[in-house]
Amino acid sequence: MSIEENFKRLQSTIPKEVLVVAVSKTYPSTAIQKLYDLEHRDFGENRVQEWLQKKDELPADIRWHLIGHLQTNKVKQVIPFVYLIQSVDSLKLLNKIQSESLKLDRITSILLQVKIAQEESKYGFSQDQIFEIVKNSREGRFPNVQIKGLMGMASFTQNQNQIQSEFETLHSMYSQFQADENWNTLSMGMSGDYKLAIECGSNAIRVGSLLFGTRD
Ligand SMILES: *Cc1c(COP(=O)(O)O)cnc(C)c1O
Repeated sequence: MSIEENFKRLQSTIPKEVLVVAVSKTYPSTAIQKLYDLEHRDFGENRVQEWLQKKDELPADIRWHLIGHLQTNKVKQVIPFVYLIQSVDSLKLLNKIQSESLKLDRITSILLQVKIAQEESKYGFSQDQIFEIVKNSREGRFPNVQIKGLMGMASFTQNQNQIQSEFETLHSMYSQFQADENWNTLSMGMSGDYKLAIECGSNAIRVGSLLFGTRD
């Protein structure tokens, strides 16, 4: 199946309100262009260098989502071109996004990454930290950062019950804050678990291999 066919099939199986972020990391700009030509605009990348190179070969109205762990020394390069940084996983990074956005006189949209998986390796905040940060943000602590919601990754496991319970945890954390135009994105679900994620309340899925094929 072609990338275009994969995309149309995916679209036909999910509700229209769910945002599809096509995760194009490791794939060439020609693959991205194919979905762009179908009017798709949201793409996700996880490596800054790779992304900035591809970006220059593609139309300027693509909405780039950063979904990988971001080092603070790369923030300055990222801010002018990013649509949504989904993977804000430390206070140090959040403070850096605030200070660099202020310098550039911009408001940067972000999601807070939550550590829902059991695994040690996954980055992200705890529930208490999320509560504290959103509270501080609403009190004006990060004037150049717009926190739009939460992002999380379930454990790498075949156990559907565990994945479901992690998604439900994330959804209930998201729902403790009033939904409005500033708090409107719950990003959970990838190629292997997006259906379950949507059932659990996700409104933004990050799908790579299902569209573009398996990565090396
Ligand atoms: C790579 C990646 C995805 C997409 O994974 P697929 O299994 O290829 O759909 C989603 N989210 C994050 C954070 C990723 O790094």
